[in-house]
Amino acid sequence: MNTKNADLSKELKKYFGFSTFKGQQEEIIKNLLEGKDIFVLMPTGGGKSLCYQLPALISEGTAIVVSPLIALMKNQVDAVNGLSSNEGVAHVLNSSLNKTQTKQVFDDIKAGKTKLLYVAPESLIKEEYMEFLRDVKISFVAIDEAHCISEWGHDFRPEYRNLKTIIDKIADVAVIALTATATPKVQDDIQKTLGMSNALVFKESFNRPNLYYEVRPKVNIDKEIVKFVNGHHGKSGIVYCLSRRKVEEFAQLLQVNGINALPYHAGLDQKTRVTNQDRFLMEDADIIVATIAFGMGIDKPDVRFVIHYDIPKSLESYYQETGRAGRDGGEGICLAFYDPKDIEKLEKFLAQKPVSEREIGLQLLNEVVGYAETSMSRRQYILNYFGEQFDPINGDGAMMCDNSVNPPKLKDATKELKLVLTLVKELEEKFRTKDLISVLVGKENSVTKSYKLESTKHFAIGKNESENYWKTIIRQATVQNFLQKDIETYGVLKLTEKGLKVIIGKDKSPFLIAEDREYDLAQTKADSD
Ligand code: ADP
Repeated sequence: MNTKNADLSKELKKYFGFSTFKGQQEEIIKNLLEGKDIFVLMPTGGGKSLCYQLPALISEGTAIVVSPLIALMKNQVDAVNGLSSNEGVAHVLNSSLNKTQTKQVFDDIKAGKTKLLYVAPESLIKEEYMEFLRDVKISFVAIDEAHCISEWGHDFRPEYRNLKTIIDKIADVAVIALTATATPKVQDDIQKTLGMSNALVFKESFNRPNLYYEVRPKVNIDKEIVKFVNGHHGKSGIVYCLSRRKVEEFAQLLQVNGINALPYHAGLDQKTRVTNQDRFLMEDADIIVATIAFGMGIDKPDVRFVIHYDIPKSLESYYQETGRAGRDGGEGICLAFYDPKDIEKLEKFLAQKPVSEREIGLQLLNEVVGYAETSMSRRQYILNYFGEQFDPINGDGAMMCDNSVNPPKLKDATKELKLVLTLVKELEEKFRTKDLISVLVGKENSVTKSYKLESTKHFAIGKNESENYWKTIIRQATVQNFLQKDIETYGVLKLTEKGLKVIIGKDKSPFLIAEDREYDLAQTKADSD
């Protein structure tokens, strides 16, 4: 690849006005300019865009930037074109253009004006685009939000699967894939799918030391949030809810409580959405109550808190959404409300999906439960999930979570674990959580009756403890991989190898659960009102 100038710092200053590179940007750019395939894992705000924008600006030809969202593309193109010396060097090619506009884009590329061409994967497949791009000089291909390639990511897009074949048809050039969310599994998947197993990998820490993580049981949630928001008067915050209806209801509830809040979800008309988003960005509204439709590409530096009214479907989403707090390095509180019943609802929802999707969905959910119920440093939990080690005592941001500030008391529940595992085995791994609990506490239901479990020695064997206690034990046994939920039969509990070891006395390590976590959470009246 030809570059006009090897002095990258000068180019950085010239095009972006920055004096120094951030993190590993310079290394990444140098290697890309040398024609190497590159994989960049950097948290949001790490400065990924510049890793392909700068080399594109100083290379001969046009760089193709594959990006999943048309709305995002426009922001990015505007941002590049807005830089003083860059006018008109970035363009978009997607279904939103009419014929004349498309021709204009083609002409600009041919004339060598276009340095960055943003395309959606589904546009790239179009025969006419592919043919055109085959005949022009392409500098390299950047794949933004590369986690969309993986079913294990939180935002899987089937169109991303074929990218490799399409790119190969267009040009034989270097590829740079970038993402802000990748567990080791997703990373592996991306590299395999893109045929980039030999790519140079640049990974920056995902630790956000200024973010404070807390999980609270979902009890009196409306009151709790109102109290929290009032305690942070005038500060910007996002409240995420899973459903549009909840977004509307809760935004109203905040308004009724004198809080300056607005709703945002994909069901609102375009104008309202844009207005509400702008009012939030311009500080005209303190709080935005939103579904996950809100946030991608939004760069508001002083969001002081992100509250999850409902627990999200994966830790990737959680990390991404909470990552919108404290971008300026200042305070950023991440508060999630957790009710195991919400998990059950999400599981039911997954039950209608095809097996593979269900399996992935359940495993991702299991990690969320693990995070919500963990007694360890939440930062450590998240970072471990992303394949990173973290020292919970001396690491950067070590004391910034509820568990570190106020460590939960642990209770040894090894006896109870053994009892449950033995029960699962003796009942021949045939039952779901609910029915096992009925057996444990001695409560008849249609399943216990049809299997005549009432007359067995197992019935009411755990009647001294509550249903919720047993639920916690079973949930924790699943999170800690002593039991697993069968996918095919949806939810029937099976023993894992680790579980079997406990039964036969080969694993004698204690099974500890947090004592003061009251997740027996019948929603209170205030919540359902
Ligand atoms: P990401 O895509 O990783 O979320 P962005 O590319 O949006 O991050 O960059 C985040 C912010 O950092 C932007 O405001 C960008 O202008 C800024 N930035 C990027 N590189 C540099 C740099 N070398 N020096 C100063 N600021 C930078």
